[in-house]
Amino acid sequence: MALEDYKAEMERCSVCSYCTWVPLDQIKSWRFSKGCPSIAYARFMSYSARGRYSVAQALLEGRSGYTDRVLDIVYKCNTCGSCDVTCKVCRYNLEPLDMILELRAKLVQDGQRLQQHQAIIDHLIKEHNTLQRPKSERGLWADGVDVKRLGSEKAEVLFHAGCRFSFDGTLQGTARAAVALLRNAGVDVGILDAEETCCGSRAYSMGYRKEFAELAGRNIAAWKKAGVKSIVTTCADCYHGFKRLYPKMGSGFEVLHTAEFLDRFIKEGKLKFSRDIPMTVTYHDPCHLGRQGEPYVPWSGVEKKIRKQVIVYEPRRPRNNGAWGIYDPPRDVLKSIPGLKLVEMERIREYAWCCGAGGGVKEAYPDFAISTAKERIEEAKSTGAEAIVTACPWCERNLMDGVEQTGGGMKVMDIVELVQKAIRK
Ligand code: SF4
Ligand code: SF4
Repeated sequence: MALEDYKAEMERCSVCSYCTWVPLDQIKSWRFSKGCPSIAYARFMSYSARGRYSVAQALLEGRSGYTDRVLDIVYKCNTCGSCDVTCKVCRYNLEPLDMILELRAKLVQDGQRLQQHQAIIDHLIKEHNTLQRPKSERGLWADGVDVKRLGSEKAEVLFHAGCRFSFDGTLQGTARAAVALLRNAGVDVGILDAEETCCGSRAYSMGYRKEFAELAGRNIAAWKKAGVKSIVTTCADCYHGFKRLYPKMGSGFEVLHTAEFLDRFIKEGKLKFSRDIPMTVTYHDPCHLGRQGEPYVPWSGVEKKIRKQVIVYEPRRPRNNGAWGIYDPPRDVLKSIPGLKLVEMERIREYAWCCGAGGGVKEAYPDFAISTAKERIEEAKSTGAEAIVTACPWCERNLMDGVEQTGGGMKVMDIVELVQKAIRK
């Protein structure tokens, strides 16, 4: 679709501003009732989904040109999708997140790019990673790890580490532990080592569609060549790319997040715990595993107006309102760890507050990213938990940075780390 295809939506937005909050029936307190990090930070209506509809409309109608302010509004958004879920509580004919992503794609196409994003994309195209590191270092995280190297060996399942786990030294232990857990449960797993390529998900969210397609094409071709059937990843960004974006390009691979695999192993008795973990933890739903982790369902049909008023879609259009994301597997894993107590924050599942790292925000607006993380850390602290557990290295990195800037007082952990601790002899 092109931005022009959202013109009817721009007219239809009822300016209710529901998209800036958690849905009314989900609000547990005034303190944690906000849903949109962008407007919470900028405190101006243009920085909401509703405001971005207006900006897009003004651009299309020639009432505005590209200014620094317009670029700030378009890019200072986590593409977290909270607005999308809340809008759909009472609307079925608006797709705010898709429109925001399309608006970015138009800006990129028109050369209206952020310097910080462009630097990352230039490197990404050459070195196939978003962390501005040499491609040759990509497989170093797996040095000494007993796992098949695809190319010289064959395996049924590919473990895709992703850029953050491949290059962020503090977090690499999680990728190594994930591979060990898969192997211990009898999974025939392999890695692409230095030949692994960025999923392209972050390029897509920044608006770089051509670059995303190139990276996705490389990955799909490599998976076909390796002869794997399933892809497993511990990164929510990669999961979203493989599960939601790649099928639009004809990728037919089974895609699983490690949390789903671990949940399956525990329920099938393939993974048994041997140690108590006496901790109280809370779980942070990554946006790209939760509300944006829903399976892709293709649709082609028409929009009709009946009785000159009611919009209907024929055939019925899938409603991606976040309800079918991955929420229970990580929680079931945590609840099954002996001694561990899971306490919930106020904004959870499809109504979760974003960690702040997404949409190219961590790269271009570090203060905004940290401010969003701090809000989540305060919410986590309010539960009495000693650790915030998540299932995405981008969330972990930004929440860790947030904790550091707030003087500590909260551990940030990956679900894989906790499972590994609980099975250690
Ligand atoms: S985008 Fe949806 S929730 Fe937001 S103002 Fe428009 S109609 Fe209301
Ligand atoms: S995607 Fe997230 S940050 Fe962007 S407008 Fe929607 S709720 Fe706000």
